Amino acid sequence: MKKSDRHRLSDEQLLKAVQKKKECNAKAQAVVESFLEKNIEKDYFLSQLNNINQCHYDDVVDERNILMLCGYPLCRKELENVPTKKYQISTTKNKVYDITDRKKFCSSTCFKASEFIKSQILVSPLWLRQCEIIPEFKLLDEKGD
Ligand SMILES: [Zn+2]
Repeated sequence: MKKSDRHRLSDEQLLKAVQKKKECNAKAQAVVESFLEKNIEKDYFLSQLNNINQCHYDDVVDERNILMLCGYPLCRKELENVPTKKYQISTTKNKVYDITDRKKFCSSTCFKASEFIKSQILVSPLWLRQCEIIPEFKLLDEKGD
């Protein structure tokens, strides 16, 4: 039995989708790697955020942590005196904080700026994004300081 034209078309579309997915993943991976540099231009940083999703951003923070760089890609500081403990006790607020994530940054400012950026990154699959409205990414410190 001969395949219908319709069937053949959907095969082609499927192949295209797979190809697109591959391309998007490769691009995202390249962006992740470029975010591991010490000197990242702000404009470049902002222009590449639509090519990754939040998981990729988490990878960036983790990888930078391994490299002993502050997790916020726009910060040029190296991490020093990283606390080995996982929790911090605030005697003033009488609370215990999990500082696992905070430890990946040189300061609370960077931690906040990073969380702010991450919250703007899309979570939708990269290869389905051409129909989506790409938001304009903003830095935390752009309100003027
Ligand atoms: Zn920093």
